[in-house]
Amino acid sequence: MEQWIRNVLDLQEVDIRIRKLLIRLEMIPKEQKEIKKEIVEEEQSLETKKTRSLQAASSIKSCEVKTSQLKEQIVNLEKQSSMVKNNEQYKAMTSEIEHLKKQISELETTEIELFDEQEDADAEYKDIAAKFATRIDNLKEEIAELGQLSDDIKAQIKDLSGQRPALKAKIPAETLRIYERLIAKGEGLPLAMIVSGNCGNCHLKVIPQTLYNAQAKKLTTCDYCSHMLYVGE
Ligand SMILES: [Zn+2]
Repeated sequence: MEQWIRNVLDLQEVDIRIRKLLIRLEMIPKEQKEIKKEIVEEEQSLETKKTRSLQAASSIKSCEVKTSQLKEQIVNLEKQSSMVKNNEQYKAMTSEIEHLKKQISELETTEIELFDEQEDADAEYKDIAAKFATRIDNLKEEIAELGQLSDDIKAQIKDLSGQRPALKAKIPAETLRIYERLIAKGEGLPLAMIVSGNCGNCHLKVIPQTLYNAQAKKLTTCDYCSHMLYVGE
């Protein structure tokens, strides 16, 4: 293989590796952002799991308030009943007191059920919170790992970029000028091999004159995509 072709291929290998690393690097902040979003969603979902316990606590509270109101009513009725002379009225008050006592008893039953519900809800929350903590730790670890990957990639790019000046120095000025223009496009290979008569970059069939020039190891470009061409050995 001609020396100039070998030298361009060496530079190209380095540049393609840099290109791939840059693409990977560019994806990292987006991936980190996605994970952060997931953390926020997990936190919000955990917050909603608290609701069941809070609702039970609030219902218990209102049961207690209602019970104490009913007890107060009973005390008042009992005070009044001691002063009533009329038998009918006395009966009515006693019946009212019985009715209130029954309501209190029902409220007490409801309260016991609510305490059970609260206990259940708290246990469920504790279980979910423990799993949540593990999940969050894992997600934070993923973010940190991506940060490490980003640093590694930057170091690799720096190392590869450092190799470029020496590689460029071996390439004739005109060839290098064309090469730099093609690599800057960010896609395809600046120097592509002709495979079965087709350009290795755009895959179209090269014209006979181009093929002939390439076979003669001359600086040749594809008539369609204008990338440089060479024939493999
Ligand atoms: Zn082409």
